Amino acid sequence: MSEMFSKVAILGVGLIGSSMAHAMRRGGLAGHIAGYARRAETLERARAVGFADSLHGDASACVKDAELVVLATPVGTFASLAEEIAPFLKQGAILTDVGSVKGAVIRDVGPFVPEGVHFIPAHPIAGTEQSGPEAGFPELFDGRWCILTPPPGANSEAVEKLKSFWQALGSQVEVMEARRHDLVLAITSHVPHLIAYNIVGTADDLETVTENEVIKFSAGGFRDFTRIAASDPTMWRDVFLNNRDAVLEILGRFEEDLSILKRAIRWSDGEALFKFFTRTRAIRRGIIDAGQDTAAPNFGRTPKKDQ
Ligand code: NAP
Repeated sequence: MSEMFSKVAILGVGLIGSSMAHAMRRGGLAGHIAGYARRAETLERARAVGFADSLHGDASACVKDAELVVLATPVGTFASLAEEIAPFLKQGAILTDVGSVKGAVIRDVGPFVPEGVHFIPAHPIAGTEQSGPEAGFPELFDGRWCILTPPPGANSEAVEKLKSFWQALGSQVEVMEARRHDLVLAITSHVPHLIAYNIVGTADDLETVTENEVIKFSAGGFRDFTRIAASDPTMWRDVFLNNRDAVLEILGRFEEDLSILKRAIRWSDGEALFKFFTRTRAIRRGIIDAGQDTAAPNFGRTPKKDQ
């Protein structure tokens, strides 16, 4: 592949930012990759991994002359970062982000975008529960979706260029309205994370009663929730604070469905439970058929001797 941007600035060199840098290097997509982090310690760790051509503790220095600027810090920091870098953005540059919510990002960043800079929000639907500059790897976006949510009137050439960029990083790209993105992600990602955080919290409270049995017998299903509940607390706090309406709407539906299941259990309605579980099993099959997960038993884990 060939160079798409002479300079790309990545503000936030954690899991997503560093994975983008690795994937850009793999494809030779950028002449120069500049990274920014708030803390000197993070910059040092990023330098040790070595995925950027320059590293900066000053966001405005990082974006100088960049043709593509990516906000890749927690969503709650975007507004102040955008305000800080706005006067230093190059005319004709594309300003994008990787935030897990989109309506709030358009609301918070939009007002700071200077005339002549193209603001195209994006969200790669790819990640792990790891964070920090060492967590990134070049294949993170391969075969995964990236959703672009250009605001009304966005420059179509810039949208196409960002689309090609994400494809070159390995992704499949879909363009969607921000409101729709937030609702879809509330059900596919945000509420599942809340449920995982909640069940792990409940088990932790119970732990004093059960004395370690929760951990000992975790392979019964609980363990898979703990993986999600180990995700970065700052990132997820910001997701819930910034996608409140969609999350509350989906939680309302979730509570209704939970009541139906509770009722079926209370009344020993085996047929209702069986029908429900059969329907949900088909969804798992659909995800595997779409290449978004492995069909290997136990998510492809190799069995340990003690199981
Ligand atoms: P991460 O690994 O925790 O990295 C966050 C980066 O932002 C670090 O460089 C960190 O460096 C910097 N940062 C943290 N707090 C900051 C602050 N207050 N001001 C300025 N910089 C700050 O996070 P990530 O998983 O890459 O997530 C980054 C973004 O990607 C988030 O907006 C998230 O919603 C989105 N996203 C995440 C996933 C996922 O699965 N993780 C998937 C898709 C999209 P310092 O600590 O030195 O500041």
